[in-house]
Amino acid sequence: HIPQDTILYVDGVTKSFDGFKALNSLSLILEPGQMRAIIGPNGAGKTTMMDVITGKLRPDEGTVFFNNDIDLTQHDEAEIANIGIGRKFQKPSVIENLTVFENLELALAGRRGVFESLMHKLSSSDNKQIGDTLALIRLADKQEWLAGSLSHGQKQWLEIGMLIMQEPQLLLIDEPAAGMTDEETALTAELFKELAKKHSLVVVEHDMDFVKALDCPVTVLHEGSVLAQGTLEQVQQNQQVIEVYLGR
Ligand code: ADP
Repeated sequence: HIPQDTILYVDGVTKSFDGFKALNSLSLILEPGQMRAIIGPNGAGKTTMMDVITGKLRPDEGTVFFNNDIDLTQHDEAEIANIGIGRKFQKPSVIENLTVFENLELALAGRRGVFESLMHKLSSSDNKQIGDTLALIRLADKQEWLAGSLSHGQKQWLEIGMLIMQEPQLLLIDEPAAGMTDEETALTAELFKELAKKHSLVVVEHDMDFVKALDCPVTVLHEGSVLAQGTLEQVQQNQQVIEVYLGR
C-alpha cells in the first residue's frame, strides 16, 4: 500500500554486505516539496540509503518508489538521474578552469546532449534560467570568475546550481556544510530553504547547527533503520537517540 502523493517512498529496504545488514528494513516517506534532514552516527546506513535510492546499489528486499509509481529498483543509476533525481556528493566536482557561468551552461548542455548543445545558441530562456540560478546560489557577481578561484563553500553552491539546471524534482545532498565557514553554513541553510520551494530535498548532515537552521523534519538512522523522526528538538530529547549518540 502506497500513501497518496509521495515523491519518495522507501519501504522495508534491506541491504546486506557479507551478511551484515547496512540497511535493515528501512522505511522513509517524503512528500512533494518537503525537505528532510537525515542524521545518525557513522555506519548508520546513510550513504547506503542514498546509494539505493539513486540506483548505485540494488536492495536485497523492499521497495523504492519515486513520484508515486516509478519503481526505482527497476532502473539503473543513469536512468534515475534522468528521471528527476539529482545527487550531490560531499566533494564538489565543478570544472575549475571554466567560469561559473560556463559551468552552469555545461550543466544545461548535459540535459540536452552534447550534439544538440554544440548546435545550440543559448536562448533567452536559457539565459534567464542561468541568471536565476546565479542569483539563487549567490554568485551573480562572480559569473566570470574561474570556478577554481571560488571558496569551498562557493564551489558547493555552484555545484548545487549545476544540479538544479537539470530541473530535478528530488535532490539528495550529502553533508553540504562540511568544511564550510560559519557564515557559509548559515547562507547555505538560507539557500536550501529557497530550494525547498521548488524541489524536494533529502539532506544528510552531521552539523547540528546547520540542521537546526534548516528547520525541517529530521529522521535519525541507526543500524540501518529509522530510530526516531520529528523536529530536531524532539529527536534530540528522544532517550534512544541520546543513548546512541552518547554510546550508551
Ligand atoms: P553512514 O553513511 O551512515 O556512515 P554507511 O551506509 O556508509 O553508513 O555504512 C553502513 C554500514 O555498512 C557500515 O558498517 C559500513 O561499514 C557497511 N558498508 C557500507 N558499504 C559497504 C560495502 N560496500 N561493503 C561492506 N560493508 C559496507
